Amino acid sequence: MAGSNNIETDVAIIGGGGAGIPAAIEVARAGGKALVLEVAAECGGTAAISGGGCCIVGTPLQKSQGINDTPDLAFGDWIAFGGGAADEVWARYYLEHSLHELYHWGESCGVRWVDLRFQEGNSVPRWHRPDNNGLGLMTALIKTAEHIPNITVMTGVSAGKLLTEGGRVRGVAASKDNQALEIRAKSTIVATGGFNSNLDMVLEHRPEFKQFKVMEGSGVGAKGEGHRMIQELGGYFTHMGDIWFYVFATPDYLDPRQRRGVAFRQVPGYLWFNQQGKRFHNESLTGGASATPALLRQNPPHAWAVADTPMLAKMDVADPQYRRGDVIDRAKVEAMLNNSPYIKKGNSLAELAANCAIEDVKNFVGEIEDYNNDFDAKRESDRKFAKPLKGSKKFDTPPYYAIQIFPLARKNFGGAKTDLRCRALNKYFEPIPGLYAAGEVAGMAGGHINGKNGLEGTMLGPSIFSGRVAGAWAAQEAGFGQGFVGKANRPEGE
Ligand SMILES: Cc1cc2nc3c(=O)[nH]c(=O)nc-3n(C[C@H](O)[C@H](O)[C@H](O)COP(=O)(O)OP(=O)(O)OC[C@H]3O[C@@H](n4cnc5c(N)ncnc54)[C@H](O)[C@@H]3O)c2cc1C
Repeated sequence: MAGSNNIETDVAIIGGGGAGIPAAIEVARAGGKALVLEVAAECGGTAAISGGGCCIVGTPLQKSQGINDTPDLAFGDWIAFGGGAADEVWARYYLEHSLHELYHWGESCGVRWVDLRFQEGNSVPRWHRPDNNGLGLMTALIKTAEHIPNITVMTGVSAGKLLTEGGRVRGVAASKDNQALEIRAKSTIVATGGFNSNLDMVLEHRPEFKQFKVMEGSGVGAKGEGHRMIQELGGYFTHMGDIWFYVFATPDYLDPRQRRGVAFRQVPGYLWFNQQGKRFHNESLTGGASATPALLRQNPPHAWAVADTPMLAKMDVADPQYRRGDVIDRAKVEAMLNNSPYIKKGNSLAELAANCAIEDVKNFVGEIEDYNNDFDAKRESDRKFAKPLKGSKKFDTPPYYAIQIFPLARKNFGGAKTDLRCRALNKYFEPIPGLYAAGEVAGMAGGHINGKNGLEGTMLGPSIFSGRVAGAWAAQEAGFGQGFVGKANRPEGE
């Protein structure tokens, strides 16, 4: 590697995604200089390919739809759904602040919250979708950061090893275009995301999945590099096996390693069949809590997502290579539908079943006919699994398609343990001086804010929030501002 360049800053932030960009905004607003190091050509990370949904409580959008929600109600749902493994202090801290410090703060950065969805485990709808999903949200935050003079963003920079001096973290060694860089900082935030695009690491923490085909499914930068950096300095990791797997994903036929999976959305009518030709789950419940265990109970543990041609007209593939900017690249989606060896076609349902080597073709066709009959009878939901029929349609327009789906590792619910200032802790629960961790590298916030299951919107929301908390406290340690002072969602006067 040629020469070495030294760069000085107040706070170094490794990763320019959902946690890193908000962290930089906080540092700069406290008066410090923030340097964001991002390995990709652009900032945004997994957050920019995400659905963008955030779990937020007591918002004007909820009120406009007559939904009365409170942090107490949400906390009860959160803890119950987390299966006894959620960090109650962080969950409470996040929920109490989500209205002012995420919803309104996001709006002040140009984010527009446009609709609300109900998600499994919630008493009321509280999954707030921003305009243009994760891409819209991250574009607004990145633009905000670009307008703040104290923030410098360096892209194409791979951070490698944290630097220490006198027992403190003092920045990070990195490289850009084969050139070594030494970033010297008063405090350092690791915001590198999760490790679900590193299949070896996924299988190390979930060895029982070695017997199945499992795919890498996070943003391409989510390789666990920040985990390694923190671990090298004695950081404590917790709940690492709590990985949220999804099933509405198919192998990316363009990946030469055949490891990456792509999630597809906007096919509301599809039905899932196992290899025997039987439906096994309510396909409208796609979250990791019920859909993944249902798929893994099948033998073999994969399924076919079956649709007719109009159902696929708006199919969205959640991966940058299937998009042009913020629009779906339809030609690439069509190419995938026509060329992937994991996608079969048939001019009749029986032909499709034969092409998928379905064992019981009669049952397969019969179940689809039953489903079609539910439409003819104008039922609200289908008789087999009570899947709502609104927004779906009958199977009546060939060619029919079957997309083979496998479990996909998507979200890390465990990670580096931190305190409420996002200081990375060692195994004695003492802060490692000068080191902060935020976002998915810290299990979204604090180490394990979700527990075993997430209410949805509980990954990106806490990543943004913990990024802000880390930024404010890292700036304070560097001599700027007073740390994070958030406004809680309390009734007026309390
Ligand atoms: C398809 C998909 C949809 C999702 N939808 C939702 C949703 O709707 N709601 C929700 O709550 N959550 C969702 N999530 C999860 C959510 O997007 C992530 O949990 C969140 O983005 C994590 O933020 P982060 O900043 O920790 O990581 P990221 O946003 O991934 O940012 C980390 C950044 O660090 C960079 N980086 C990594 N290593 C290095 C290095 N060595 N040097 C320099 N830079 C590095 C990466 O390139 C990346 O840009 C979704 C995830 C996926 C994959």
